[in-house]
Amino acid sequence: MLSEANEQFFADMATQHLALTYDDVRLETRHAHNIEPSEIDVSSQFSRNVGLRRPFVSAAMDTVTTSEMAIAMAESGGIGVIHAGLEPEIQKSEVRRVKLRMNGVIDSPVTVLATDSVQEVLNLCESKGYDFRTFPVVDSQKRFVGLLTGSDFAFCHDTETSVEGAMTPASNVVSRTGKVSIQEAYETMSSEKYKTLPILDEKGQVSHMYLHSDVSRIVNESEAFNVDSDGRLLVAAAIPTTNEGLERVRLMRKYLDVAVIDSANGDSFYAFKTLEAIKSEFPDLDVVVGNVSTGDSALELAIAGADGVKVGQGPGSICTTRIETGIGKPQVTAVYECARAVEDYGIPVCADGGITNNGDISVALVVGAASVMMGNRLAGTKEAPGDILQREDGSMVKLYRGMGSASAFNDSAASRERYGAQLSGPRLAEGVESFVPYRGEVASVLEMCWLGLRASFGYTKARNLNELRAETKLIRITNAGLRESHPHDIMAPRR
Ligand code: 5GP
Repeated sequence: MLSEANEQFFADMATQHLALTYDDVRLETRHAHNIEPSEIDVSSQFSRNVGLRRPFVSAAMDTVTTSEMAIAMAESGGIGVIHAGLEPEIQKSEVRRVKLRMNGVIDSPVTVLATDSVQEVLNLCESKGYDFRTFPVVDSQKRFVGLLTGSDFAFCHDTETSVEGAMTPASNVVSRTGKVSIQEAYETMSSEKYKTLPILDEKGQVSHMYLHSDVSRIVNESEAFNVDSDGRLLVAAAIPTTNEGLERVRLMRKYLDVAVIDSANGDSFYAFKTLEAIKSEFPDLDVVVGNVSTGDSALELAIAGADGVKVGQGPGSICTTRIETGIGKPQVTAVYECARAVEDYGIPVCADGGITNNGDISVALVVGAASVMMGNRLAGTKEAPGDILQREDGSMVKLYRGMGSASAFNDSAASRERYGAQLSGPRLAEGVESFVPYRGEVASVLEMCWLGLRASFGYTKARNLNELRAETKLIRITNAGLRESHPHDIMAPRR
């Protein structure tokens, strides 16, 4: 629930038709019992049914989120939205890659026949793009007869050898029958020193399989990972508001946790139509819709069945929508109005764009966001697509461009659709292309975001997001206050 003091604050602003953004406000500290860092819980929701351990989301942009970023985001407790500038099959394989990264359990693993040749299996890997090399081997009745692993491929000098000749026979493989939990699988594999544990059904067929590498990561390292109920990383994908949108969902559904309908104007006929089409065919799939910046638009999306609303029209660092069209609302007010409008529908709001400093994240959460989507902060990381470039002054940078920039229009139908631009002829770019400093790994950038957030919780004596929202007061600052907020009246150190 939003705080009464902040409701009054925004009501006062509204009487002046004044909308504010991050640099216009700060948060008051609060006198209350101290809280211990261990008491702080920043878990939140990206959509109605998809949670976040930390409220961080990576932007659906072609210089920000493909599978590498989405893996790093989920491993840091957040979620990544794979951009839609990829061909549908490629977007699917990126989503799949994230989902299968930590396959706690592999359902119906790909099997090969004992009578196949090793070469036939290699051909299969190539044609299907399999990057794994562990296959249960079965007979003509699909019964488990052995295991073919990476070592068998490595030590097979004649690839025309049959799989039966290269595999480890079932008599030398540890397997289990029936229901086996991840923990039991981990203990069995660790004590028996086996990397793979096939699980058989009563007919002796392989129903699923555990890999020690995945299971041990889940058991030992994944406490902070954002995972589904099967221990697999959570992943979202951007969906355009064309007929192709539904097709993409059909393709990806098996691996997808959240579809994010991605439009510069989420309050459009096409966005509602896409939402309706996806929800009627896939009622169990969470659908977040954006972008909007008014309470009315957010409310209509909630009524239409959205499982989350993404807010931000014009706050992005590479965005020129407000300059080119005069449209948009400063982000703090936009987030507040949208969060307030959908509060009774119990769906979360994602504050998309304009996060420049760590403190902006705390402000977004106080005014009602359940998560923040970041492009700029993440585009300079190792995991973002694109090369690290060195400029003449020696600085390391990465390319970062708006999905509404002229160069994105040239390269991607999805970006043209997002902004209603034509393939050729005059086009209004609503974004620019630029560089951002190279920032190292996503995990370290998000760790700083988290430390900033944790410190805000400490100052405001909040233990969780509900308390932060309900108890923290916003104050408006002047330009003098903003100047005072940043380092000032000091000299840059000599180099
Ligand atoms: P940033 O984190 O850079 O401040 O903002 C990223 C957000 O800007 C994205 O998630 C997306 O909503 C928005 N965005 C991305 N490209 C463009 C663009 O070309 N024009 C506009 N208006 N917004 C963009």
